[in-house]
Amino acid sequence: MIRFEDVGKRYPDGTVAVDGLSMEIHEGELVTLVGPSGCGKTTTMTMVNRLTEPTSGRVLLDGKDVATQDPVRLRRRIGYVIQQVGLFPHRTVLDNTATVPTLLGRTRREARSRAAELLELVGLDPATHGERYPHQLSGGERQRVGVARALAADPPVLLMDEPFGAVDPVVRERLQGEFRRLQARMRKTVLFVTHDIEEAVRLGDRMAVFAKGRLAQLDTPARVLGDP
Ligand code: ADP
Ligand code: ADP
Repeated sequence: MIRFEDVGKRYPDGTVAVDGLSMEIHEGELVTLVGPSGCGKTTTMTMVNRLTEPTSGRVLLDGKDVATQDPVRLRRRIGYVIQQVGLFPHRTVLDNTATVPTLLGRTRREARSRAAELLELVGLDPATHGERYPHQLSGGERQRVGVARALAADPPVLLMDEPFGAVDPVVRERLQGEFRRLQARMRKTVLFVTHDIEEAVRLGDRMAVFAKGRLAQLDTPARVLGDP
């Protein structure tokens, strides 16, 4: 589904962020990208939706080089959730979530009904939370809205960059549990960046362990942990 072929990224200032990366992520699989800060996780992930362009090698989505694909169309097929989800401050949660369906041509009523479904899916009550404005939400709730919005176009692929990294540990654990259940039903192809090894173990079907821009290991959590 997603395939990195000998991918490298050197930033204009000379920093080599990713080097000689080859890996394949299967359809419906959740792969966590884990490793210390600065090891190339975000760079790797954003080469899938073309926020970052590789300087060597190629990234294929469904067998097609993403470099040949229109970024707007590409991003419609790839949901993206970041650590500090940015919501429109002057729109309610429901309207924030309905934005993508509206852009995709749904009527206002359809878009709002779809948004309500998505909010329920991530554990928010459309009738109460849906009518709030972003500043009236807790950090964990904002991240849930971010997940709902990323799912709005029903993309087969989700990219998540420390989506639960900025919430307190108790809320984070709850979000992880919820997301795992959600993923069990959705079966999206997910790349999930985290520097938290426990999170990577808890969520990943497989873990891609990075060290200094190189893929050190790609295996199931049990095997990664079992390896001395
Ligand atoms: P991680 O997500 O694992 O923290 P990143 O992919 O963000 O790592 O960064 C990998 C390396 O590339 C780091 O050394 C970082 O400082 C560098 N880097 C990231 N973005 C840029 C950029 N736009 N220009 C130059 N160097 C960058
Ligand atoms: P958390 O424990 O996740 O940090 P908070 O203490 O921030 O949660 O919020 C607890 C509850 O209060 C949440 O359901 C949130 O939606 C609600 N809340 C927070 N700020 C406001 C506000 N300004 N107006 C209305 N409800 C709010």
